[in-house]
Amino acid sequence: MNLDGIHHVTAITGDAQRAIDFHVGVLGLRLVKTTVNFDAPDLYHLYMGDESGSPGSILTFFEVRGATPGRAGAGMVHRIVWRVPSADSLDAWAGRLGDAGRPVERGDSSLVSSDPEGLGIELVVGSPEDGAARAALSDGVAPEHALGGIAGVRAYSRAPEATEGVLTGGLGFVREAAGRLVTRGAERRGLYLVEASPDERPLQGAGTVHHVAWTAPDAEHAAWIARVRASGGHPTEVIDRQYFRSIYFHEPGGVMFEIASAGPGFAVDESPEHLGEALRLPPQYERHRDAIEERLTPLDNPRARPATPVAADTRETP
Ligand code: ZN
Repeated sequence: MNLDGIHHVTAITGDAQRAIDFHVGVLGLRLVKTTVNFDAPDLYHLYMGDESGSPGSILTFFEVRGATPGRAGAGMVHRIVWRVPSADSLDAWAGRLGDAGRPVERGDSSLVSSDPEGLGIELVVGSPEDGAARAALSDGVAPEHALGGIAGVRAYSRAPEATEGVLTGGLGFVREAAGRLVTRGAERRGLYLVEASPDERPLQGAGTVHHVAWTAPDAEHAAWIARVRASGGHPTEVIDRQYFRSIYFHEPGGVMFEIASAGPGFAVDESPEHLGEALRLPPQYERHRDAIEERLTPLDNPRARPATPVAADTRETP
């Protein structure tokens, strides 16, 4: 029983439209669910990913409108690592991110950038053992360079040794190198890259990661709760998140972990062709829809508009 790679990463944005403009418009993800924070229904919760929002492809945002910029520090994930198909893809993305006004640091085998709120992004070339690529279709991004899902995350641990001990002990990760922990599940691999924390005080705010979720089938949730407890953690019970079921706990380095089921998925309350286009509410909030909609700012989703035909020779690359 191993965690089957990343399920999703959840970050905080101060401006949902800005998050869509970048992650859908530039990175080429598909907005697969527009809903609200189930614990605070006047705030958006947006899910982006591949065409169906497969586990491993999903980046989600809580919108805290006007939130002050955060600063990643001890006990926080500070960068999301995405897979791309090839070294050529790294070059193509360096161009595309640069054109979008983002800083780009091209290493030998990676590219480091950030979103407009400072959320760290790293692109690495994937390998077949990572599992099948999970890419969205996008007007602006050539399919041969599309992001293929989240490889893993980089985190600042408050206690790197304890983090490594618990992850390689109870949670089934393998230490590939110093600070490089890997889980190999039935279908996918996931990376947890552990770094010592900077001295600056962490600040949860816009552009920071809230938690990281790993994938495991429903049938294994009870066993995971037992394992996390045996490792000294304090897991929640299984919580129904409408699109998946989850347990939550903190790893010893302070980062919030979630273990989420693959199903039922995002087509449970709208058709696969129109994922993300209309505001979906969980049953308990449906009767308050009018009041909730009044408080939310309408969003412009590039994928929900009719495609603009682009001649092949003028098509933007990648
Ligand atoms: Zn989550």
